Amino acid sequence: MIRAPSLLCTAAAAVLLTWPWPARTADTGPQPAAMSFATLPAGLDPDAQAVRSGRFDAAFVPVPREALRLERGAARWYRLALTADWRAASAPVLVIRNVRFQPVTLYLPGDARGITRAHATARRDPRFSGRALVFELPRTLAAGAPLYLWLPAAAKTAPIRAAIYPVDDYHVRDLRWTRVMTFFEAVQFTMILVGLTLWLALRERLYGFFVGYLAPQFMYLLVSTGDLYLLPGAHWLQPLGIRLLWFVAALGTPFALSFIIEFCDLRLRVPRLARLLAWLRWPWALLTLTALLPAAWHADNSLQPDVGNALFLLCALAAVAAVALAWRRGSTAAGIFLLAWIPQSVFTALRAGQTLLGLPLPGWLEFGLPAALALSSLVLTLGLGLSTLQTRHERDRARAEAQRDALTGLPNRRALTARLAEALTDARQRHRPLSLIFLDLDHFKAINDRHGHLAGDACLRILAERVQSELRPADTLARWGGEEFVVLLPGAALDEAGAIGERIRHRVEADPFMAGGAAIAVTVSLGISGHRAPATDSPEQLIEQADAALYRAKAEGRNRLAVYPAYAASA
Ligand code: GH3
Ligand code: MG
Ligand code: MG
Repeated sequence: MIRAPSLLCTAAAAVLLTWPWPARTADTGPQPAAMSFATLPAGLDPDAQAVRSGRFDAAFVPVPREALRLERGAARWYRLALTADWRAASAPVLVIRNVRFQPVTLYLPGDARGITRAHATARRDPRFSGRALVFELPRTLAAGAPLYLWLPAAAKTAPIRAAIYPVDDYHVRDLRWTRVMTFFEAVQFTMILVGLTLWLALRERLYGFFVGYLAPQFMYLLVSTGDLYLLPGAHWLQPLGIRLLWFVAALGTPFALSFIIEFCDLRLRVPRLARLLAWLRWPWALLTLTALLPAAWHADNSLQPDVGNALFLLCALAAVAAVALAWRRGSTAAGIFLLAWIPQSVFTALRAGQTLLGLPLPGWLEFGLPAALALSSLVLTLGLGLSTLQTRHERDRARAEAQRDALTGLPNRRALTARLAEALTDARQRHRPLSLIFLDLDHFKAINDRHGHLAGDACLRILAERVQSELRPADTLARWGGEEFVVLLPGAALDEAGAIGERIRHRVEADPFMAGGAAIAVTVSLGISGHRAPATDSPEQLIEQADAALYRAKAEGRNRLAVYPAYAASA
């Protein structure tokens, strides 16, 4: 069903979207300045005044850069310092990554108040993207001058990154990040718009599920990059903090399940798994609601994300099993879904593993997930297009079949009626003649009785072939029903129609029909009627008149041709 051009386009898009250029540019960024790191032992959380005064300096324990982290249920103090005086051309900035929605406070030498920054709030420095929290440091920062960093207690222990760069260099890296992310976001947004407009135009719920699946995924990306809060009115969502992420994840999953069930035809291919997936949508309704409960309910608790993650894993496993099975059972859509889904899942898993193990975040991984999401939205849009195409093919086939006689493959009575009306209108407008032959097999009942019904069927097919071979392309041979056929001859006057009818009669009679292992002598009777401008016969009248002529041919002894009396004299 998937044709070569669409496959090629998808492959080209995949290569473009996942080309390692963003990774390369991210890896060859500036190197962080050499620094030392130290922390107060766990459980020690003196007030800022005491720490700044240097009273606790002796208690700080040196740690490697990789050990920096948010602590579950406990606040943490870190002391950062340069190992050499700052000499770069532009001012230094401290860049903190992976703190997500936790506010971070930095105390500079000589600054008693401290600066607090948090992702997705007004406390973010608008000169930088949402990639990291950025603190501008004095140009005069000397080796060993202490920078005290306070991290509040978190719901989960998670590694963070801290580094100092010249602000000019960081801007270059930040702009690259913004460009790449904007590109991937734009791809997803476009696909969502395509889905939305198709849904509004076609009113097919599959498109609705498609939007319900992609939009929360896209929102998730927008919230985690902080870009969402740049939209007008979005600052109302800021108090939700990280709960907004849980909310969109919880909202998107049941839509994703509905989309998968519908798109991959799971109810037909894997009914039991489809029922399980449909059932698994319900717990998400509860999680969506709890994500919106007041912040106090969530203080220091990781229950919501833990339950959410476990349930998500369960849904993902059940879905991948169902989709893979449906694919094995011949669903092309399921194959397309796997193609869209595998890169996304691989990158999600790798990213989760990287965070869990506290490993550094390479560029290919940082951009891998948004790239995979963009690719997936593209592939799924293609899949939607293909499924629409398939529906259209099925409809066209059904329409064509409704016009055709199954035994002979000829147009049936319905098709002939439509064609006759058209031909009559055309004949009137262009003042051209039009003739019609009604043809009936003689003593067909006897053929059936003697040679069997199957031989009778074969005779009808042979008759159809022989009559057809006597006609011009513009003529129409149709099966009227039973052993009766109609020939429509546009442009033929009655005398020409008589000649054609005589030719047909002769051709049928000339050689016996080889059917059911026997040579069967077959003859036909024909009745002819015609329209001549400016007569105003209706299609029904023309048929009736030809039928009347046929009746006369039968009455006069069969294997002959009769013309409708009204015209017989002039013909
Ligand atoms: P006449 O010369 O007067 O037309 O006699 P006839 O036997 O051809 O006409 P009659 O109307 O008595 O019988 C038509 C027969 O055609 C009866 C029916 O069983 C048979 N018939 C109709 N449709 C089919 C078909 O699709 N296949 C076969 N094998 N027989 C059919
Ligand atoms: Mg007959
Ligand atoms: Mg008949």
